[in-house]
Amino acid sequence: MIYYVFRLCARLFGAAVLVLSLNAEAAEWPDRATMAVTLTFDLDAETVWWNDADKMTGNPSSLSQGAYGPKVAIPKILSLLGKHGITATFFVPAWVAENYPDTVRSIADAGHEIAAHGVKHIAPVQLTPEQELEVFRQSIRLLQQVSGKRPVGYRAPSWAFSDVTLSLAAEQGFTYSSNLMDADLPYVHQDPAGLVELPVSWVLDDAPYFWFDEDSWNKTIHSAASVKAIWQEEFSAAYRDGGYLNLTMHPQIIGRPARIQMLDEFIEWMKTFEGVWMTTGGELANYIRQE
Ligand SMILES: [Zn+2]
Repeated sequence: MIYYVFRLCARLFGAAVLVLSLNAEAAEWPDRATMAVTLTFDLDAETVWWNDADKMTGNPSSLSQGAYGPKVAIPKILSLLGKHGITATFFVPAWVAENYPDTVRSIADAGHEIAAHGVKHIAPVQLTPEQELEVFRQSIRLLQQVSGKRPVGYRAPSWAFSDVTLSLAAEQGFTYSSNLMDADLPYVHQDPAGLVELPVSWVLDDAPYFWFDEDSWNKTIHSAASVKAIWQEEFSAAYRDGGYLNLTMHPQIIGRPARIQMLDEFIEWMKTFEGVWMTTGGELANYIRQE
């Protein structure tokens, strides 16, 4: 027990030192950019709605909510990103790549990054280390088969990973993780050494504002305008600090008409600021590793 407490303290201290040192270099983005932005989309499709992932069963209405992502939202998102000339990162469960190959290929063909997000969206914390390893292998194989490129980025389904997930990811050749909330800026892990972390946060995730299902009756769905205001606050503060904004979105959520319009306006607004480096997780992680 004491060993684990010691390990946790060492890990937190290590991360804190790296974050402090990166904060001092915060303005040093490429080409004298003022801040970095990554737009990320978790293309979960039906996988998040399965009651039983092995049997792939679920309420047809909920499953159709998931299918909206690849069927309707992705073409809108690709057209929006194309219009703004931005490349983004799509975290894709391998099951989705296998079942919507044309959609996933269309994302890769448009120049965006395809990154790993499990196979059937089962949280690694529910798996044994052997099962986790198998999931990583399947995920790499299927994503490479469909997109033509080996994935380098990893986001755990539901951000819920085990003690061994990050080490396995590094061993399998992933260069970055986008799962943790312990920093404002990207940093490099000490354990596993060299793995870049692109930190996330709930405030920059579309799900807390818009996620709704048959068990959510006590929840309020936010207006797109209110979420745009929150994201603008976050962007402004990060811009002032020469920082980083990592948006986590879900095509089935952000792809609805008023929300995609909001995203369009938000991107347009960010582009009015000078020196905003909008890039993919993979490119940003490369830059952090070189630095
Ligand atoms: Zn997901």
